[in-house]
Amino acid sequence: MHETGLSEAIVAAAVRRAAGRRVTGLRVRIGGHAIDPAVVTQGIQVAAAGTVAADTAVDLVLEPMTVRCHDCGHDAPVTDHLAMVACPECGGVDVDVTGGDDVVLESITVDGAGPGGR
Ligand SMILES: [Zn+2]
Repeated sequence: MHETGLSEAIVAAAVRRAAGRRVTGLRVRIGGHAIDPAVVTQGIQVAAAGTVAADTAVDLVLEPMTVRCHDCGHDAPVTDHLAMVACPECGGVDVDVTGGDDVVLESITVDGAGPGGR
């Protein structure tokens, strides 16, 4: 994983979108990654230091991958590594793991009302 580069990219995108306004909130959707949200949050806050997003709140939306079983048709979110290699429902190993392996800056909140706020 490249959490540092990831965090910097998210911050860079947010700063660009803010167009000079102060960023007070970031909503980031993370698909598929088995990463520690606290690490990502901290990485974003570190990357945001000294930018208009320095005081931003970070809201992570984690979207786990899903596994689809060809044996029983079960469709389930992947909650652990075992579920990626065998169906949690019937134990079948003919499974497909699907789902985003993407990180998307879903939305930002900017302080458009001038100074004040938090
Ligand atoms: Zn199954």
